[in-house]
Amino acid sequence: MSWLALLTLIQAVAIIFQGRFLSVSLSDLWGKKTLNQVALVLGIFITAFVVRQCLTVAKNYVLVPFADRTTDQLQKSLIEKYTKLGPTVISNNGTGKSVNLAIEGIGQVNNYLTLVLIKFVDMSIVPWLILVYMASIKWEQALFLFIIYPIIVLFMIILGYTAQAKADREYDRFNRLSNHFVDTLRGLTTLKQLGLSKRYANNVYEVSEDYRKATLSTLSIGILSTFALDFLTTLSIAVVALFLGLDLMNGNLILVSALTILILAPEYFLPIRNFANDYHATLDGKNALADIFDILDQPETKNQDAYQPKQAAWQADSTLALQNVNYTYPKTSQLALQNISMEIKGFEKVGLVGTSGSGKSTLLNLLGGFIDGEGEVKIEGEKVPHLSQKAWQQNLQFMPQDPYIFHDTVRANLAFYAPEVTDVQIEKVIDQVGLQDWFNNLTDGLDTIIGDGAMQTSGGQAQRIALARIMLNESRRVILLDEPTAHLDIETEMQLKQTMLPIFENHLVIFATHRLHWLAQMDWIIVMKDGQIVEQGTLAELNANNGYFVELQKAMQGAEHE
Ligand code: ADP
Ligand code: MG
Repeated sequence: MSWLALLTLIQAVAIIFQGRFLSVSLSDLWGKKTLNQVALVLGIFITAFVVRQCLTVAKNYVLVPFADRTTDQLQKSLIEKYTKLGPTVISNNGTGKSVNLAIEGIGQVNNYLTLVLIKFVDMSIVPWLILVYMASIKWEQALFLFIIYPIIVLFMIILGYTAQAKADREYDRFNRLSNHFVDTLRGLTTLKQLGLSKRYANNVYEVSEDYRKATLSTLSIGILSTFALDFLTTLSIAVVALFLGLDLMNGNLILVSALTILILAPEYFLPIRNFANDYHATLDGKNALADIFDILDQPETKNQDAYQPKQAAWQADSTLALQNVNYTYPKTSQLALQNISMEIKGFEKVGLVGTSGSGKSTLLNLLGGFIDGEGEVKIEGEKVPHLSQKAWQQNLQFMPQDPYIFHDTVRANLAFYAPEVTDVQIEKVIDQVGLQDWFNNLTDGLDTIIGDGAMQTSGGQAQRIALARIMLNESRRVILLDEPTAHLDIETEMQLKQTMLPIFENHLVIFATHRLHWLAQMDWIIVMKDGQIVEQGTLAELNANNGYFVELQKAMQGAEHE
C-alpha cells in the first residue's frame, strides 16, 4: 500500500506537469512562438505524459504480485478451514457453493483487489493534489469543483446501494445455481434411472436463465450509474469552462491559466469515474470476499488436544459418556439433538434406530467429533469440551451410506487407514470382502485408478471397499456406521453382513440402521425420535417394554415386507 501510494503521488505530480506544460505549449503556439521555442516545454509535456503511463504499469507491477499472494493465501486458509470445520460447513453451504468459492470466488477476489485497490488509492490522492494546484491558480473554480464532488459521491452511493442489493440477490441465485448444478450432476445416474433427467435439464436451463436475467438487470444499473456520472462530470466541466471564458473576456485570467484548469478538470474527475465503473464490475468479488471471511471467522472446534488419554487407544474397558447433550444446526433454530444421555463401554455393539430425520446421523457426527454439542462429554471418565479430540478421533473408522472412492489407485483406496500394509495383505482382504472377481478384471491390478473420472464402482463395490479399509486397519478400534447397507439389495446385504460381523469383534461399533435384522447382533439399542433418545436397552428389554420401539419395529417390518 505504501509503495502504491508513493507511485500514485508521483503520478499525480506527472498529471499536473502534463496539464500545465500542455497548456503552456498551446498558449505559446497561440502567441505565435516558433516550434523551436516551445520545444523544451513540449518536451516536458511529453516526458510527463510518458512518466504517467509508465507509472500505471508500475502500479500494476506492485499490485498484481500482492493480489496474487493475498488470494493464494486466502485460498489456502479457506481450504484449511474447510478441513478443520469438517463436513458440516460443506453441508451448510452446499457443495457447489463451497467449491465455487474456493475456485471461482478466489479469482473474483483477485480481480476485485487488483482493480479496486488501485482505483481507490488513485481516488484518495490524485484529485486532491490537482485541486490544490488549481486553487493556487484560481480558487473560485477549485471551490466549485470541490463542492460538486460530494454530490457525485452521493449519486454514486445511491446507485451503488441499488446495484449492491441487486448483486446480493444475484449472488444468492448464483450460489443456488451452482449447488443445484453440482447436485444434479452427482445425482445424474439416479435421475436417469428414474427417467427424470430430461425434466432436470429443463430445470437447470430455467435456473441459468434466471441468473442471466438477474445479471443483466444488475448490469443495467451499472450502466445507468456510469451514465449519471459522466453526465454530471461533463456538466460540471462545461460550467467551469463557461466561467473560465467569462474570466478570459473580462481579462481576469490569462490564457495559460484558463487552459490549465480546463485540461486538469477532467483529470480531477477521472479517478472517481474509474472507481465507480470497476466498483460495479467487481461487486461479485466483494461478495465472494465477504463470504470467505464469513467462513474464516467461523469458530473452529476449539481445543483438539484437551483429551490426553492414559492408555493409547480404545480398549475393552474404555468408556464414553454423554450427559444432556444438545445440538442445533447453525442457521436453524430447531434442536437436532436434545438431552442426549448415553454411556457406551469397551467393545459393545450399539445400534441406533429411528425414523429418517430422527437424528441418527447427527448423533454419529457428534460422536465422531465433526460437530460440537453443548453438554457434558466424558471419555474414560475424564471431562472433555467436545469429541473433536485428536486422541479420540485416532480411534475412529467411518462407514457411511456412500463411501467416498478417491480418484486414486485401488491400493491407496484400500489402505486408507493403514498406508503401511503390504500388497499381499491387501489382496487377501480383497478376497475376504468378495471383490476378487472385480479385482481380477482390473487392467493394472492394485495400480488401477478408480473413482470419479476413472473406473467407476457400484454402490455394493464401494461398500466392500469401505469394509476392506476397516479390515486392513488394526489400530482403530471404534467403527461408526451410518446406514451402510441402505442402498444394497437384501442378498448383497446378507453376504456383506457375514463379512462384517467378524470385524465387529474387539471393536466398539455404533451402527445407525433401519434394517431390523442387525438389531439381533447388537448389545445395546438406542431408539431415537425427533432428536431425542426415547428408549434404550437390550433388544429383549426394549421388546418387554412394549413402548415406542415395538411400535417402530412394527412399522419397519411393514415397510420391509412391502
Ligand atoms: P437421520 O440420520 O436419523 O435420518 P439426521 O441426523 O440426518 O436424521 O437429521 C436430524 C434432523 O436434523 C432432521 O430434522 C434434519 O432435517 C436436520 N438436519 C440434518 N442435517 C442438517 C443440516 N446440515 N442443517 C440443518 N439441519 C439438518
Ligand atoms: Mg441419516
